[in-house]
Amino acid sequence: MKIVILGGGPGGYVAAIRAAQLGAEVTVVEKDKVGGTCLNRGCIPTKVLLHTSVEMENVNKEFKEIGIDIKGAEINWEQLQRRKETIVNRLVGGVETLLRSNKVTKIAGEGSFVNSRQIKIKSDDGEIILDFDYAIIATGSAPVIIPLPGINLPGVITSDEVLSLKEIPKSMVIIGGGVIGTEIASIYSSLGCKVSIVEMLPDIVSNMDQDIVKPLKDKLLKNGVEIYNNTKLESINNSSNGLQLNVSSSSGKITIQAEKVLLSIGRRPVTENLSLEKAGVTTEKGRVKVNKNMKTNADNIYAVGDCTGGAMLAHISSAQGIVAAEHIMNRKPQIDFKTIPYCVYTKPELAGVGLTEKQAKERGYAIKVGIAPMYINGKSIIEGDTDGIAKYIADADTGEILGLHISGPRATDLIVEGALAIRLEATIDEITSTIHAHPTVGEILHEAAHSTYGNAIHIP
Ligand code: FAD
Repeated sequence: MKIVILGGGPGGYVAAIRAAQLGAEVTVVEKDKVGGTCLNRGCIPTKVLLHTSVEMENVNKEFKEIGIDIKGAEINWEQLQRRKETIVNRLVGGVETLLRSNKVTKIAGEGSFVNSRQIKIKSDDGEIILDFDYAIIATGSAPVIIPLPGINLPGVITSDEVLSLKEIPKSMVIIGGGVIGTEIASIYSSLGCKVSIVEMLPDIVSNMDQDIVKPLKDKLLKNGVEIYNNTKLESINNSSNGLQLNVSSSSGKITIQAEKVLLSIGRRPVTENLSLEKAGVTTEKGRVKVNKNMKTNADNIYAVGDCTGGAMLAHISSAQGIVAAEHIMNRKPQIDFKTIPYCVYTKPELAGVGLTEKQAKERGYAIKVGIAPMYINGKSIIEGDTDGIAKYIADADTGEILGLHISGPRATDLIVEGALAIRLEATIDEITSTIHAHPTVGEILHEAAHSTYGNAIHIP
């Protein structure tokens, strides 16, 4: 079975490895670097910068409190950029090794369809044609640019550039208070940049349970981040102080000055140069349409990851890659998409899985909610990191867990308890009867589960 995969990001390379494990002859075509957006311009480089920004904040505020005096600490931006490149290169090299050890062929170049059985690959060395039995489209996404006056001015950037700036800007306005916008706000505000967020909706990170977003909002405001909700960017022009943003809100029009403007208003599927029509594959608003097995309308062509639209996350792309590879190789994919964790890597971290309180109510569930504040947790107090809460949502009749939402230290690691609970259709009683180690931040989940039925042990 010959499978050709277009794109070597988390969707493409995971599909390649899984298909190879199941006996397929697999080729990955990649026009840039394997690892895709995630490794090269997304998940990994953002977290490298975030790690340093959190440590810097600790040096400035918390180390003194825990008995460590550090004088004269400052950010070495060049070293931080070098470290980021080293980590990215190491992980990209890791993916290359995995592809080789699974006997996946990698071809450098830009692929497009010739018909429903052939792909053309263009590179500096010329053009070649590959035959395939099955193809998987995994070409990812790119930042959305809105056609507004001034959008092409120097200093207006996207997430592709914001992680590799020559120096830390003095000020930055972030257009869009979604996941990427708030992560960048958290990073740069801790590094000493004056950050403002302009968000069209009434709240930042509006897709998450608002009870867990509040501690993040409070922290950003404490760090001097200005948040403009219900506010829309209209145009940008040059000014004596850098860039001037003209924005409008229900209370009128205002201007904001900044050195850099980050456009972070969403991402669009990358499907425009693939000649999909030659393979008979249909798209809707640029996204490849797929069924639950990730198959397109063409019988032997699948698509996974960001190019299919929906929530754009690396672990979703990889899970979809496994589904596509297994379906092509006649297996029954078992992945349960109810268990997708949604994470925001800020300080405090946010993480949610399953239904939010609002979604559960909208779907007509009678629910029980258990909340525990992070400040009651011994380990969080020891670590000086008590912003946040844990919140379980359960079906009032059966006790089955419908959602878990956490803000605070290690929220993005702890969320796996909720994902597993939902996968196993566990109940609140099954969480409370599971022993959680002491002292750990994870005990907060135990406490939130206990409090669902009013039985919290450590909440006064
Ligand atoms: P991509 O990773 O975009 O990979 C697609 C690949 O296809 C690219 O390498 C591209 O070069 C290649 N390609 C495209 N067209 C062609 C062609 N014609 N021929 C050959 N190759 C082609 N997600 C998380 O889960 N956690 C995070 O913390 C997180 N942080 C993020 C932070 C930022 C700043 C950004 C921008 C994104 C972040 N994401 C995060 C999202 C995550 O990066 C994406 O969801 C993920 O990379 C999508 O994987 P993919 O394989 O679908 O596409």
